[in-house]
Amino acid sequence: MGTQDVRKGDGMPAEKKLVVVALGGNAILQPGQRGTFEEQMKNVHLTCDQLAQMVESGKYKIVVTHGNGPQVGNILLQNEVGKDVAAPMPLYVCGAESQGLIGYMIQQSLTNLFADKGRGDIPVATVVTQVVVDAKDDAFVHPTKPVGPFYSAEEAKRLHDEKGYDVKEDAGRGWRRVVASPDPVEIFEKEIIRQLVAARSIVIASGGGGIPVVRENGHLRGVDAVIDKDLAGERLAADVGASIFMILTDVSQVKLNYKTPQEKSLDRMTVAEARKYHAEGHFAKGSMEPKVRAAIRFIESGGERAIITSLDKATAALDGKAGTTITKE
Ligand code: ADP
Ligand code: MG
Repeated sequence: MGTQDVRKGDGMPAEKKLVVVALGGNAILQPGQRGTFEEQMKNVHLTCDQLAQMVESGKYKIVVTHGNGPQVGNILLQNEVGKDVAAPMPLYVCGAESQGLIGYMIQQSLTNLFADKGRGDIPVATVVTQVVVDAKDDAFVHPTKPVGPFYSAEEAKRLHDEKGYDVKEDAGRGWRRVVASPDPVEIFEKEIIRQLVAARSIVIASGGGGIPVVRENGHLRGVDAVIDKDLAGERLAADVGASIFMILTDVSQVKLNYKTPQEKSLDRMTVAEARKYHAEGHFAKGSMEPKVRAAIRFIESGGERAIITSLDKATAALDGKAGTTITKE
């Protein structure tokens, strides 16, 4: 596997560890914010300040991935509201748009931060990333992930009949389209990402879990689906041969018996322990569960350690002084 080559060298200083950092929703938009460009840029700037510190420590090289929930939600809404004046785009194209939007903000923030520190020589690039999924993935049989605006019952029925959308009533709030959340199989652009990393670039890739595509007669085709960003981040980390996969979210540690009087924060877990806690149901579906699953996969595919923590604890967690670390033993 090519991943070993990247770990060992390709002109990369051996002492610098490659970290894939997965940014959660709160790194770009805080709860309660409307999502104006200025708000997002401000959050991204604070986030990038943390990322720049990692790079400046001289100990790490980073590849960045990120969520896109609120951003793609707004793009879908804009498409819906403006559909009579401008042609709406498919969900997977909206995903591509969100990668450009968020990639631009991170790219510019990091570049400006480095310029201030006299490190204008560090290149930063966003790669519009396609993630291959299996057209036969079970997730396509029973779509579960709600996307886009709420509809009335009649509108939902029309979308189902005319466009073949799967629609579901969402807890009394109205009807929404639901799409599949298939497992990521392969980061299609992995080779170019590896080359950029080897050339000392900071790469932003696989945003929003990547643009879901299927292989068909030797070609790629976009599909309307949403890939979990933590699981796609793990694929990316394995594909670029990262030593560390770090998931930055809005809690500083993974907890057992979350939100109960018996709640307990975890400093470390072995893969075996993580599997046991996972089976016992400690991690909520759609939030902590995919993170722990991604961490387990990363270690099992040869990664050194996975870290789950909050943005403000990122550098401390890399030093082993904060967060939850998952290792083989
Ligand atoms: P992100 O945008 O970073 O992916 P998520 O909301 O998907 O954020 O996941 C983080 C959330 O997971 C936390 O805010 C917390 O409420 C929730 N969570 C569920 N189970 C646990 C657990 N066992 N320990 C810690 N947090 C948990
Ligand atoms: Mg999440």
